[in-house]
Amino acid sequence: MDTDVLVVGAGPTGLMLANQLVRRGVSVVVVDRHAGPARETRALGVQARTLEIYAQLGIVDRALALGKRGTGANLWAQGRKTARVPLGEAGRDETPYPYILILGQDDNERIMGERLRELGTSVQWNTELVGLAQDAGGVTATLKLPDGTERTLRAAWVAGCDGARSTVRARCGIAFPGAPYEHVFFVADVAATGGMVPDELNVYFWRQGFHLLFPMRGQDHWRIVGILPRNLRGRNDVKFEDVIPSLRHEAGAGLSFKACTWFSTYRIHHRSAARFRDRRCFLLGDAAHIHSPVGAQGMNTGLQDAYNLAWKLALVVKNHATPALLDSYEEERIPVARRLLNTTDRAFRLVVSDSWLAGIFRTKILARIAAFALSRNGIQRTVFRTVSQTGIRYRKSPLSESPGGLPKGAPRGGDRFPWLRLKFRTDGPIEDSFRKLDDTHFNLIAIGQPAPAAEALGFGDMLRIHAIPADPFNDLELARAQITQPSFYLLRPDGHVGLCGVGLEAEAVKNYISRRLRSGV
Ligand SMILES: Cc1cc2nc3c(=O)[nH]c(=O)nc-3n(C[C@H](O)[C@H](O)[C@H](O)COP(=O)(O)OP(=O)(O)OC[C@H]3O[C@@H](n4cnc5c(N)ncnc54)[C@H](O)[C@@H]3O)c2cc1C
Repeated sequence: MDTDVLVVGAGPTGLMLANQLVRRGVSVVVVDRHAGPARETRALGVQARTLEIYAQLGIVDRALALGKRGTGANLWAQGRKTARVPLGEAGRDETPYPYILILGQDDNERIMGERLRELGTSVQWNTELVGLAQDAGGVTATLKLPDGTERTLRAAWVAGCDGARSTVRARCGIAFPGAPYEHVFFVADVAATGGMVPDELNVYFWRQGFHLLFPMRGQDHWRIVGILPRNLRGRNDVKFEDVIPSLRHEAGAGLSFKACTWFSTYRIHHRSAARFRDRRCFLLGDAAHIHSPVGAQGMNTGLQDAYNLAWKLALVVKNHATPALLDSYEEERIPVARRLLNTTDRAFRLVVSDSWLAGIFRTKILARIAAFALSRNGIQRTVFRTVSQTGIRYRKSPLSESPGGLPKGAPRGGDRFPWLRLKFRTDGPIEDSFRKLDDTHFNLIAIGQPAPAAEALGFGDMLRIHAIPADPFNDLELARAQITQPSFYLLRPDGHVGLCGVGLEAEAVKNYISRRLRSGV
C-alpha cells in the first residue's frame, strides 16, 4: 500500500481533510490537477463552527488576524436603508466566535496549506486523478503526473474532494441530480466608495433582483455579487463596466469605482450526490453537494464534511474501529446537505425571482419582516445557530444515544456539545471547554458525580476523562447551557455527543464505545 488515504483535490475541503488525518497519524497523499493554490477569493464568509475547528487545528489566530469580523448587515430597498441586522449579538454565549469572519477562500486555503506543511505533508500539484479501480483490499488510482506520464498509486481509501465536476464521483458511477438556476450571476472584487455602511454587509434589494456588497480586507475593498441585468443575459463577453449602470441605479449615483481586480460571471447549480460513499471512496464538499451561495455555507459545509469523516477514517486506519463506523459519514452528512439545499433553494428563489410579485416582496416587505423577526431574541438565536452551523446535529444518527432521564432542553445524543467556561479543577483556572477538550480523542465529562477510573473503561489513550468539580461558577455556567446535575456526556472526537445520561456507569460507556467501534451501530 502506498498510502492510507489518497485525497483528490486541494481546495478547502481536501486541505481540511488532509490536515485532520495527518494530525491523527494517518499517512496521506494529496493531489491537485492545478499548478498551485487558487488565486480567486470565491467563498468569503467563514462561519463560527469553522473557526472552532480552526482553533483545534491551531490556525484560528492566523485566520482572525487576516480576516475582518462582520458585525452587521444593512438592508436597502430601492435606494433607502430599511433595516440593520446586528450579526453576532445572539451568538455571544454560543461560541467564542460570535460573528462571520470575512476571509477569502484563497486565504483560507493558504492557511490550511501552511499548517499541512508544518505537519510534514505537501500537496502534489499538477497531478490529476484519471482512473480508479476498487477491490476488497484497496483502491488503485491512476495519476497523470506533471511531465504528462501516468503512474498508479495504491491507497486503502480515497477521498473525492475534487469539486463540482468530481472525477471520483464519475468513476464511482454516483449520480449528481439537480439543475442549474436560470440566472447568470456576476462577482467582482473592487475598490469603491459610496453610501454603503463601511465594514458591514450591505444588501440592496431591487425589483429585478439584488446586489450584495461584502466588506473585504483593506481600505474601501468590496466584493460585489449580483444577478446579471436582463439586457446583458446571453452575452459571454460581459465586463465589469457593463454592470456599473445597474449598480449605480440601486446602490446610489455616488458609487465610485477605483479598481476592479476580479470579475467573473457564473451559473449556479443545486445538486446533491445520490450517495456520499462507494465502498472505499468518499465524496466531500462540492463533489457531494452544490447550492446557491445564499448564507455563505458552501465552503463551510465542505470543511465540516471533512471534520466528520476524518476521525472515523483515522480510527479505522489505525485498526481501532471496523469499517462499519464509516457508514455513519453519509448517514450524518447527507441529511445536512439535503436540508441546506432545500433552505438555500427556497431563500434563493425568493431573492432572484423575476416575477412582479417577488419584486414587490423583496423591496416592500422582506426587509421589514427581517427587521421585525430579528428583533426577537429567540429568532435571532435560531438564525445564528443555523447560519453559523453551530446548530448542526446528528440526533438520528446510529452513533447518537440518549437513554432518557435528561430534561427537555438539555444537550442530547448527536448535538454539538455546548461551549462552556468551566473550572476543571476546584483550585484551577476557568478554562474554555473547546480549548480543553482534545479533538483527537473521545472525551467523557462527568458532572455532579465521580468519574470512573480510566483503567475501568479500558480504552487507553483513546479516551480522556474529566470530572467537573462542584463549584458556584460551574453551577451557573452548566445551568446556562441547561445541563443538569448529575449527568454525563461522552463526546466523539468531533465534539458531538455520542452517549449521555444521568447516572454514569462505566459499563454503559464501555458498551457504547466498543459497539460503535466494532460494529458501527
Ligand atoms: C465565483 C464563485 C463564488 C463563490 N462564492 C461563495 C461564497 O460566497 N460563499 C461560499 O460558501 N461558497 C462560495 N462559492 C463556492 C465555494 O467556492 C465552494 O463551495 C468551495 O470551493 C468548495 O470547496 P471544495 O474543496 O469542495 O472544492 P473546490 O474548491 O472546487 O476544489 C476542488 C479541487 O479539486 C481539484 N481537482 C478537480 N478534479 C481533480 C482531479 N481529477 N484530480 C486532481 N485534482 C482535481 C481542483 O483543481 C480543485 O483545486 C463560490 C464559488 C464560485 C465559483
